[in-house]
Amino acid sequence: MKFNSGEFIAFLDATTSCQESETIEIAHVSVDSRSLLNDNKTLFFALKGKNHNGHDYIGELIDKGVKYFVVSDHEEWRSQYKTGCFFKVKNTLHALQRSAAFHRLKFDFPVIGITGSKGKTVVKEWLNFLMSEEYRIIKSPKSYNSQTGVPLSVFGIEEKHNLGIFEAGISTQNEMKKLAEIIKPTMGILTAITDEHQEGFDSIDQKIQEKIKLFENATVVFCENDKRITKHIFDKELFTWSFSDSTATVFAKIQGKNLHLIYNGREIEVKVPFDDSMSINNIVICICVLLYLKYPDEIIQQRIMKLYPIEMRLQVKKGVNRCVIIDDAYNADYQSIIIALDFLEKHKTNHAKTIVLSDVFRSDYKETEVYEQIRVLLERHKLTKIIAIGENIGKYLSGLNNMLFFKNTDTFLQKMSIDDFNDETILVKGARSFRFDKIVSLLEEKTHETVLEVDLTAIRHNLNFYRSMLKPETKIMVMVKAFGYGNGSVEIAKLLAHENVNYLGVAFADEGITLRKSGIKTPVIVMNPEFSAFEAMIAYDLEPEIYSVRELNIFLKVAREKNCYNYPVHIKLDTGMHRHGFLVEDLKELVEILKYTNVVEVKSIFSHLSSSDLAEHIGFTLNQIENFQENVCLLTNELAINPIKHILNTSGIFNFPQYQFDMVRLGIGLYGVGNGTEETKCLKNVSTLKTRVMQVKEIAEGQSVGYGRRFKTQRITKIATVPIGYADGIHRSWGNEKGYVIINKQKAMIIGSICMDMLMVDVTDMCCEEGDEVIVFGEELPVVEISSKLNTIPYEILTSISQRVKRIFYEE
Ligand SMILES: *Cc1c(COP(=O)(O)O)cnc(C)c1O
Repeated sequence: MKFNSGEFIAFLDATTSCQESETIEIAHVSVDSRSLLNDNKTLFFALKGKNHNGHDYIGELIDKGVKYFVVSDHEEWRSQYKTGCFFKVKNTLHALQRSAAFHRLKFDFPVIGITGSKGKTVVKEWLNFLMSEEYRIIKSPKSYNSQTGVPLSVFGIEEKHNLGIFEAGISTQNEMKKLAEIIKPTMGILTAITDEHQEGFDSIDQKIQEKIKLFENATVVFCENDKRITKHIFDKELFTWSFSDSTATVFAKIQGKNLHLIYNGREIEVKVPFDDSMSINNIVICICVLLYLKYPDEIIQQRIMKLYPIEMRLQVKKGVNRCVIIDDAYNADYQSIIIALDFLEKHKTNHAKTIVLSDVFRSDYKETEVYEQIRVLLERHKLTKIIAIGENIGKYLSGLNNMLFFKNTDTFLQKMSIDDFNDETILVKGARSFRFDKIVSLLEEKTHETVLEVDLTAIRHNLNFYRSMLKPETKIMVMVKAFGYGNGSVEIAKLLAHENVNYLGVAFADEGITLRKSGIKTPVIVMNPEFSAFEAMIAYDLEPEIYSVRELNIFLKVAREKNCYNYPVHIKLDTGMHRHGFLVEDLKELVEILKYTNVVEVKSIFSHLSSSDLAEHIGFTLNQIENFQENVCLLTNELAINPIKHILNTSGIFNFPQYQFDMVRLGIGLYGVGNGTEETKCLKNVSTLKTRVMQVKEIAEGQSVGYGRRFKTQRITKIATVPIGYADGIHRSWGNEKGYVIINKQKAMIIGSICMDMLMVDVTDMCCEEGDEVIVFGEELPVVEISSKLNTIPYEILTSISQRVKRIFYEE
């Protein structure tokens, strides 16, 4: 896109360091400093988030060749960065939104705006699939529907397009107006309204009213003929559908997979490829759009049959030979390739980067142009290995370095073996028809069906929740000890490093070394440093907790040999927990040593609360805090230092926010478990332990089940055998009808004793087939429920999950 700098300045009310008459050509709008697309045709908006400030990366981006910046501070930008061209505005997010709106105004073709609680992305992707033969469509990539996602999507509009499909997602009041101004839909779709994500609204009514602000200028609204909705949009031209109300524009009936529609007095039969109600609703919405656009019935019938499930998340999986797989084997449109490559850059845990890419489809460009863009993109990302699969990609992309070609997926599978892949992060990105899921299953580490799914988006939410309780100047340390409380340390630490947490906490040195080896640069404190590991800790820049004079002396000896100067250490005080740390009476000796050395520097002083979660011990906790303050005073006065002071763990942050001092140490809360119900309500579930039913059988009355015959059937009983046992970390005491699992949303009691690798459940009164998903814990069956019934704590349940259970990380 091209624009005149003067026009842009006037529109944004900006001041600038550019020549005013300059015409600026922009190929890419960016808000992410890590994207490898940043170059001299990039317009970078320096956004200020709570934990990020885009301005911090300007120097780095200028070195990469970025020229155009929209900024809100840095008074010195004019002199400091001579080569950049800066537009200074009051608020860079607003500027991003207004410039997208400005861009949108240049185009005058139909634009569909989609909102709703659920199904936005599915409807958008399906409409794109259904109509891409007739239209050159621009749509939001993935689920780019937020206050930044929407403007970034709209910047993609070009001359050649003649239909736009954009989603808009909001979480609270007063957000939709901005998105509506950017999208300016001419047609509106309201998908399902549910009471999910209700936190930002007082009522459903209020939420509906906010959502339909998207339709201010839209003439047609495709929505359910539901009074809750239609009463707010009675003044629009409505195109409604219903399964119960025959006054709707489209009146539908469903029988199995046969959809029967009445529209304009005409009857249409459509066979649908799904039978769950959510998919059927989304299909009806798509059909409404097609009918409104006057698609012939036969085309509708043919294309609806071909709809496919939409996978929205990029999954990170453990691969063979220490590889990591990023599974995005469902579509290959250009915008989503950009996102996937950025995702690869952020999540790579190996140095080597590989992409497996299929033919790429784009309805709005000629084939030669599409592949030229892909070539540039791939070169920019400096991939170690490119594996191209498909007739077209092979034809157009020959000559790229490090490239291997295969005609189709099957030839790839015949010619390549898992030994061709070692220590690399592999992005598998292909159109559905290429069946790259076969490649993923080849490259995935073969463990059993049991997986622990870890929701990185929820982790980010939980981090932000606790951050919202902190004073702006309070630092945060996050505990990733014990393999990230069982969830996986490297992946979570990467996320935390990106969120700019100030410290990471591990228990042992080797956990810290693993983080360093995967490229994490955040300061790391080792809480239980072993003397034998001191040398390695210094080599890897890991900072020890110092809890005794003996330890300090040994550390000093090693550090002196390594010629350390001011090496950061953290003094642990025992204020009542009585685990490790200095008692008051030890402080004199400590001071005497520290006073006369510059080998180490006291970076922080801290202590640990024993009962911050227990109301009955408030007095004790306050005592600990008082004791901490006194001893900190003593040390800082004697040594004339001003280190970071910290004492609060997760429930401390929640229950004693007034004692944050300079830093807090977040642990269990990050992983979605609070120590009280009030606290847990504010958090999102992070981990889900899942497996699948291996076998279902019916046994007669009076039979026994499992070792020691501890369960006897009272009737003809249908049982399911599930491949997870105490060796996976399921407590054996959860068996014998104490515990249960969830199958098809229903509770199934565990009967008999839990075995090493298996357990049996009663599924007599429910629908359950072999291969069905079994949830051992997760949102539907919280870890706290299990821990309280087993008289233990959620920490133990989470950290018990054995390493043989594969961890899968995903982001929404
Ligand atoms: C584990 C640990 C924490 C975190 O505790 P949570 O209750 O999980 O928040 C904080 N400080 C120290 C010293 C720890 O060992």
